[in-house]
Amino acid sequence: MCLLVQMHIPRDLKQFASIFFEHNYQCFLVGGAVRNMVARRKVTDFDFATDALPEQVMRLYPRVVPTGIKHGTVTVLYKHHHFEVTTFRVEGTYSDSRRPDTVVYIPSIYEDLKRRDFTINSMALNLSNNVLLDPHNGKVDIKNSLIRAIGNPVERFDEDGLRILRACRFASQLNFTIHHDTLSGMHICRDKLLTVSAERIRDEVKKILLSDKPSIAFRIMDDTAILDLLFPELSACKNVEQQGYHEFDVFEHLLRSCDHAKKEVPLRLAALFHDIGKPQAMQKDADGNISFHRHEHISEKLALAIIRRLKFPKVVEKETTHLIRHHMFNYQENWSDAAVRRFLHRVGVHNVDNLLYVRKADQLGMGLSRKISPAVDEFRRRIRDVLENDAALTVKDLAVDGTVLHEKCGIPKGPEMGQVLEFLLEAVLDDPDLNVETTLLDIGKKYYSDYIEKKNKQ
Ligand code: ATP
Ligand code: MG
Repeated sequence: MCLLVQMHIPRDLKQFASIFFEHNYQCFLVGGAVRNMVARRKVTDFDFATDALPEQVMRLYPRVVPTGIKHGTVTVLYKHHHFEVTTFRVEGTYSDSRRPDTVVYIPSIYEDLKRRDFTINSMALNLSNNVLLDPHNGKVDIKNSLIRAIGNPVERFDEDGLRILRACRFASQLNFTIHHDTLSGMHICRDKLLTVSAERIRDEVKKILLSDKPSIAFRIMDDTAILDLLFPELSACKNVEQQGYHEFDVFEHLLRSCDHAKKEVPLRLAALFHDIGKPQAMQKDADGNISFHRHEHISEKLALAIIRRLKFPKVVEKETTHLIRHHMFNYQENWSDAAVRRFLHRVGVHNVDNLLYVRKADQLGMGLSRKISPAVDEFRRRIRDVLENDAALTVKDLAVDGTVLHEKCGIPKGPEMGQVLEFLLEAVLDDPDLNVETTLLDIGKKYYSDYIEKKNKQ
């Protein structure tokens, strides 16, 4: 089906495409950009399809990077854009379910559109005349908020298992439902996902996590038994009952917390996994009271295994596990300023904002129509006061360092120096007025001589 469309096409795109036309090549806008334009959603990246071969595209523009040359894709740096340009192609077999073994270039955009995953992703906008090609009726599916595989879903998913997860991703990004035949194809072909590389899965999971409502994707994974394959630790949280403030089981609570978390990968991951250790930590006493003592440590360990399995970068691993490890703080209004300072020392000043965001998500994920406990805001205010007073929170903030303690008190540099500095920090966290060089030298000297005396007696 061809439609002449009334869509605003940015001038840079028209200018970019005109160079193709001047050289008698075709140029279509394809993929997510067309889908999002039709759905009137924000477009973030632009993919193009052309009959020009990659080396021909490389001759048309001065700045071209051969990013996926094996699959016919190059990235053209045009003004401030990174445009992905792929030559019309059909794909050969997918012997390892990762990437097609071979690609074959073809002259027709229609053949190219047939090899794409979903109807909503198989439209092409001809930039020479504004005609929208929509041979698989993607526009109607967009109107009906429907994700539907092109042709036979089982064949599509069998060719590339990642498409199963992509369907979940588009459902959560667009808030669409998945057509029942497509859904049942996902279920039938679910084992294909096990042959897909961790990096490709991670990139889709990342997009799911950054969507408005990641829970949509995780629920679909649950319905199609994908969750057991990709996140068995999350599956284990289903029907794990909680008491007290909690309205939901652990699984439901985690999904809701994730939806409420700030849209950053480590925060979304921390919210999704913060209680994932509860099934293992659960204990029930004789009166039927449930507790999850030290579950945060089990959650941290499980989250680390998942994050590593999916090959997220080290920084994501570090930040997420840190947030999970510390998520169980229990601020009370009667905490002393020293307790607030000790908390900041423990979790680190630069993590505290994110930890409070995770707490907020955790509370909103509990249901019971609970508003955010006023204690969190109060805590934030107390933290601000401590930070404004410039209190020492780490050894580096002390008025003395190892060199001064060595020179003026004769304390040898080595492991004992670390102990002395930690002791001084404890003292200063309790009473910031002690953070004066002469005072700390006195305390340090005394601590060290007591330590030596005790050691000699042993
Ligand atoms: P976004 O860029 O917003 O993440 P997108 O739909 O553009 O979404 P891309 O991964 O950029 O997704 O792929 C561009 C297009 O290439 C898709 O719209 C689809 O037509 C096709 N495509 C991508 N991956 C696959 C796949 N695994 N199988 C079939 N077609 C695919
Ligand atoms: Mg894209």
